[in-house]
Amino acid sequence: MVNINELTDICNKLGCRITAECSLSEYVTFRFGGVCRALISINSADSAVEILRYLRENDIKYFILGRGSNVIVSDEGFDGVVLLFGGDFAGIEVNGNTIKCDAGALLASACVHAQQSSLTGMENLFGIPGTVGGAVYMNAGAYNSEMADIVVSAEYIDENCEKRFVSRENMDFSYRHSVFSGTPLVITSVTMELSAGNSDSIKEAMNNCMSKRSSKQPLEYPSAGSTFKRPKDSYASLLIEQCGLKGLSCGGAEVSKKHSGFVINKGYATCADVFELCGIVQKTVKEKTGVLLELEPVILK
Ligand SMILES: Cc1cc2nc3c(=O)[nH]c(=O)nc-3n(C[C@H](O)[C@H](O)[C@H](O)COP(=O)(O)OP(=O)(O)OC[C@H]3O[C@@H](n4cnc5c(N)ncnc54)[C@H](O)[C@@H]3O)c2cc1C
Repeated sequence: MVNINELTDICNKLGCRITAECSLSEYVTFRFGGVCRALISINSADSAVEILRYLRENDIKYFILGRGSNVIVSDEGFDGVVLLFGGDFAGIEVNGNTIKCDAGALLASACVHAQQSSLTGMENLFGIPGTVGGAVYMNAGAYNSEMADIVVSAEYIDENCEKRFVSRENMDFSYRHSVFSGTPLVITSVTMELSAGNSDSIKEAMNNCMSKRSSKQPLEYPSAGSTFKRPKDSYASLLIEQCGLKGLSCGGAEVSKKHSGFVINKGYATCADVFELCGIVQKTVKEKTGVLLELEPVILK
């Protein structure tokens, strides 16, 4: 049981904003989902330590949310506390060839800082709509680049609420996976190392990357990006298309006609619609091709 008065007192002391009975739909890019007991906007690593300690000691369920661009929230919501790592904890510091970001900084802002400092190496990641913390958690990547290529270290809070440091060699990066995936470890900052480059060419590469995205991806609709992980030796979008599922819809959820790897929210989708649609896609693709497509987004329920 969340004691909202006690939690509010702690947040007030730490200067963190708290919203009780908060609807999560506006905090996730899919734009649906129920309510959580409280949403706390984290403002520093120290505040995160204090709040995590309280939640863990009191056995209160919690979830770490970045930009919510890889999360599906259930219609029933979440009977716990959401810790938002976003705009209140989003510092970016450039020092020579390195960029150190608070976990809540947007990856896109880090890319812009890199470009403005004539640093090359992360242009292909421009357009991934998450935070730096979320990007490390998932080892986000695009166009043959991934976070693993540029991250040199991270700071995090461990299961005992101690602040820790991990360097790249121990981050166990692989496809959409890092040492943080599926663990209670909470990333608080990330340091990336880039190379000296030309700011105009970096800007051009970033613009090209964004144009490629907007021409191929249904960015005009809410979604959580690629709905399914890339299966071995193929692409989810290709298999879905080959099975004739492009454009299929359930309620307000649709397999995008522009990119069949994306399930989109036509404006009135519920989580139930998305799950029903994904279930049909998984069943059909499995029957016709033998491949079981795995959901990529994390489910919050
Ligand atoms: C239009 C669109 C395009 C996309 N394109 C790409 C793409 O090209 N490549 C790609 O890889 N992804 C892509 N994605 C998916 C998504 O943007 C990335 O996975 C992104 O890195 C998620 O970051 P986030 O901050 O939104 O994390 P969230 O969605 O908020 O969270 C994802 C997971 O990370 C955990 N997490 C977040 N922050 C922390 C933290 N500080 N400490 C510990 N755990 C944390 C959460 O608990 C959750 O389990 C796309 C999504 C959309 C909507």
